Amino acid sequence: MPTSPRPEWTAVRAQFPAMTQDVSGHPLVYLDSAATSQKPRVVLDALAKYYERDNANVHRGIHELSRRATIAYEEARAKLASFIGAADPSELVWTRGTTEAINLVASSWGLDTLKEGDEVLLSSMEHHSNIVPWQLVAHRTGARLRYIEMDDQGRLVLDDLSELLTERTRLVAVTHISNALGTVNPVREITEHAKKVGALVLVDGAQAVPHRRVDVQELGCDFYAFSGHKMCGPTGSGALWARRELLESMPPYHGGGEMIRIVGRDSSTWAEIPHKFEAGTPNIAGAITLGVAADFLDEVGFDAIAEHEREVLAYALQRLDDLGGVTVYGPTDLDERSGVISFTMGDAHPHDISTILDSRGVAIRAGHHCAQLVMKHFGISATARASFYLYNSTDDVDRLVEGLASVQEIFGPG
Ligand code: PMP
Repeated sequence: MPTSPRPEWTAVRAQFPAMTQDVSGHPLVYLDSAATSQKPRVVLDALAKYYERDNANVHRGIHELSRRATIAYEEARAKLASFIGAADPSELVWTRGTTEAINLVASSWGLDTLKEGDEVLLSSMEHHSNIVPWQLVAHRTGARLRYIEMDDQGRLVLDDLSELLTERTRLVAVTHISNALGTVNPVREITEHAKKVGALVLVDGAQAVPHRRVDVQELGCDFYAFSGHKMCGPTGSGALWARRELLESMPPYHGGGEMIRIVGRDSSTWAEIPHKFEAGTPNIAGAITLGVAADFLDEVGFDAIAEHEREVLAYALQRLDDLGGVTVYGPTDLDERSGVISFTMGDAHPHDISTILDSRGVAIRAGHHCAQLVMKHFGISATARASFYLYNSTDDVDRLVEGLASVQEIFGPG
């Protein structure tokens, strides 16, 4: 088991300017990447370069800067499409992130398709952004929401699928990786079951795309949503991928400029996909620099990233076990979890744990993680959550554990 970071990962970390600062008089240990990741120098430079040289609106300007911005914007779309294994760049709609991508599907496909008696199958480990949009649509259409439950290790109970999936199921919407537990769900298997009853499958990929090679065609899903800011890209960037025939049949979500073909007084016709879903001036800089982030991750390589994160995760789980008094939620098998550790420590409130760690320069998250159904399942109101990314090391884990030891000095051993 490693006790000091490998030089190649120290070099990766050095590319993230935010990771080199002191917080509360200590070198920052950033363990909140499941909320948002830090950004490498190449992404920050690309952002500045875009605004310094190429800034213009896309698609409509007949001048050099607009041409440059449009080319870079559409090249980034093609890059992100191939990054997630899509066959066709026009199947990738830029959004502000996962939340907007799921709302797009709920409002466009959901309101247009769902009827009274139809069912949408979610899971009880979903982030609120893959629950609330479906509740809004269910209230308006009369559709019913059902849930795949979890076991005591926070794994989906797939044995129930044959009972839950019926000819009434129109959509299964599940997360690829849980932000609250780190559980990696068997999406391919879920998709195969869903297809047998003719249901579509939406996957929330917010916690997956940053950490592993995703191939939407291999997964066999119909919709895939993800956020740029969790994968070294800027906030306000992200995308929805969907099968061409679905996007073509779905009505627009927002109306405005860019998404139309012809506008009349009483009605209009729509632009081709994906533009039909991109009303108004998009986050041009966000899309372009998300392309740079994807290149950065490709260059480091997902095999290497996954191996590194697993090493750090295994080390962290072992050290927490050695410390004692820490309850860790989620699967015990490393093959079934990613680099997220959700935990509680006896009577110490997660917010107190987080505050004490913060005073030692260690940033974690505390709360329900927008997953209140997960908290309810485990009979708790909140957890402390440390989440790892490619720039973290076993040294960071040591600092986390030192901080937790001082939490135990204050609150007792738990
Ligand atoms: N789903 C999951 C699993 C997430 O972790 C998050 C972000 N915490 C979201 C959806 C929402 O992503 P965003 O806020 O970027 O839209």
